[in-house]
Amino acid sequence: MKKLIKDIDLIATFNEKLEEIRNGWILINENIIEDLGSDKPPKIGEGEIISGKGMLILPGFINTHHHFYQSLFRSVKEVQNAKLFDWLVFLYEKWKDIDEEAIYISSVVAILELMKSGVTTTTDHLYLFPKNRPLLFDSEVNGARLTRVRFYGTRGSMSLSRKNGGLPPDSVVQKEEEILRDYERVVKKYNNPEPFSMLRVALAPCSPFSVTESLMKETLKFAEKYDLLLHTHLAETKDEDDFCLSKVGLRPVDYMEKLGWLNSRVWFVHLVHVNDSDIKKLSDFNVGMAHCPTSNMRLGSGISPVVKMKSTGIRIGLGVDGSSSNDTGNFLQEIRNAMLLQRVANGAESITPRDVLSMGTTGGAKVLKLEKEIGSIEKGKAADIIGFNMERLEFAGALSDPVAALVLCDAKSVDISIINGDVVIENGKFKYVDELEFIRRQNKISKKLLS
Ligand SMILES: [Zn+2]
Repeated sequence: MKKLIKDIDLIATFNEKLEEIRNGWILINENIIEDLGSDKPPKIGEGEIISGKGMLILPGFINTHHHFYQSLFRSVKEVQNAKLFDWLVFLYEKWKDIDEEAIYISSVVAILELMKSGVTTTTDHLYLFPKNRPLLFDSEVNGARLTRVRFYGTRGSMSLSRKNGGLPPDSVVQKEEEILRDYERVVKKYNNPEPFSMLRVALAPCSPFSVTESLMKETLKFAEKYDLLLHTHLAETKDEDDFCLSKVGLRPVDYMEKLGWLNSRVWFVHLVHVNDSDIKKLSDFNVGMAHCPTSNMRLGSGISPVVKMKSTGIRIGLGVDGSSSNDTGNFLQEIRNAMLLQRVANGAESITPRDVLSMGTTGGAKVLKLEKEIGSIEKGKAADIIGFNMERLEFAGALSDPVAALVLCDAKSVDISIINGDVVIENGKFKYVDELEFIRRQNKISKKLLS
């Protein structure tokens, strides 16, 4: 079926020329954008007409890093003021009791929160597989399917426990054979690499301080065999620098180079503590990056040199990171914080509202190597489209530049969201999911896990 969004005040296409179309329309055929233009729209006969009056329309946002399950552990009193390693050591003990239902519910909650703030494609880094819980990845996929988000799951892993010199306790660490077997299972069962796929799978060992060297190498081999992307945390804190230097005698980026993990399949998250030589390597090897400014600020990890990295051509997307270190999954806040934090480090002229919106759209698409399918409003791309009613208190007086207002003012949530041609949020409300039911179930599970 066709859908026509017409009388749109402004379309910010985020195509290569960053074209913005006043008084526009967008024609959707099934799940694809068939055409767009300004003034007189085409006639569509039987199809659905959607009014874009008073609206700013953009491509849906792409979230490149998250840990959905952590939305059960937000604002936990004991670690509200902790830095990363202390925060992890405390939370591992709570995370070890997580089960299938907890993963399912928290995934739905985390995704709904992302969708409200404009996300239409999200990744998730699920690295937590406590003993006798082999099907957690499956629960997450079920949660994502319910929400109808475009999902790029990553099968994470931890294999280096405290007794072997790592950070996590035995209770949340798996054997390498077990992990490799499950890579094979989930990739065969869930990864759909076809164009416009709604479900893909990447592999994501957790971090240098929770994964063995041999698992990193085996994971790389597996990814090459099945043509998959790779993801991991890297260079997040000074503690991680010290850990890598003392355990392997190399700083994090050099350690990745030694493992063969500097290549275009890989996107790292954080890259806060990187020097000029690291940046050159990351750029030369064409790796991607997920930047999570709110998490970096919340944990006091530092300021990633994003402006400098961007100038070398490194592919950069944004990510909200896990909800216990953010503690929100509000992607609009992430976009705004990305701009503000870089300005603290580099000055007001260093980065613009459109720069950070690009990171949240085309930037994320390039990181996931999906730039031919998503990230901009163009003919032939997926119909992943969001809209904001600009006649709101938070935008009053800001309409000389609505696109910038989305970043500079207090944008709250989308009024419409279309994913893969399907209207999933209408008048600010979810069409298919009872939000309140999931909030209540989440609070119940959260209370149990924290007690
Ligand atoms: Zn993370």
